[in-house]
Amino acid sequence: MLNIVLFGPPGAGKGTQSERLIGKYNLVHLSTGDIFRANIKGETELGLLAKSYMDQGNLVPDEVTINMLKSEVLKHENAKGFIFDGFPRTNAQAQALDAFLSSIGTEITMMVGLEVKEEELRERLKKRAEVSGRPDDADPEVIQNRINVYKNETAPVKDYYEKQDKYIAVDGIGSIDDISDRLYAAIDNN
Ligand code: ADP
Repeated sequence: MLNIVLFGPPGAGKGTQSERLIGKYNLVHLSTGDIFRANIKGETELGLLAKSYMDQGNLVPDEVTINMLKSEVLKHENAKGFIFDGFPRTNAQAQALDAFLSSIGTEITMMVGLEVKEEELRERLKKRAEVSGRPDDADPEVIQNRINVYKNETAPVKDYYEKQDKYIAVDGIGSIDDISDRLYAAIDNN
């Protein structure tokens, strides 16, 4: 299987690039943010719980997120591989993911990290707010909190995969096509 963690701060372009990668490599796209948003829309119990955290730009608790992710993976028995987008976001999630994948006889192939500097992220999120309708994009304080949460809780996940020799950095500045090409090169040269 080809199991890729697509990593990067909010606004790095993970969602956009995931759409391209799933087509090219025939993978299943699992975006924890998208799944939470679908649950909010469907007014499920999970959605109700997730919303209180997401609206503030905080992480949904690990246990809830991990259980949801596992059940999503198990829905795709015949998958050739997965793009994990927005997961793992904490070291506890990364450890749980490793243990879970190992229990079903597979593993993370690599983490590709889209690297974009903070100024550019803020600009992109501000623009996205005009079209996304996402409450967490609309409020500059919430955006700043998401960037802080990323730095404090999520950035260490990069070290987790670096220690396993699985981290590849990709420059996330440029045209969408250029960035896709860099991602394809990173994946194909692995
Ligand atoms: P972005 O990358 O722009 O922040 P996402 O859609 O990935 O957008 O995430 C939106 C929100 O969903 C996060 O701020 C967080 O509240 C919640 N979320 C998504 N993935 C996770 C995760 N793996 N762990 C905890 N919370 C998550």
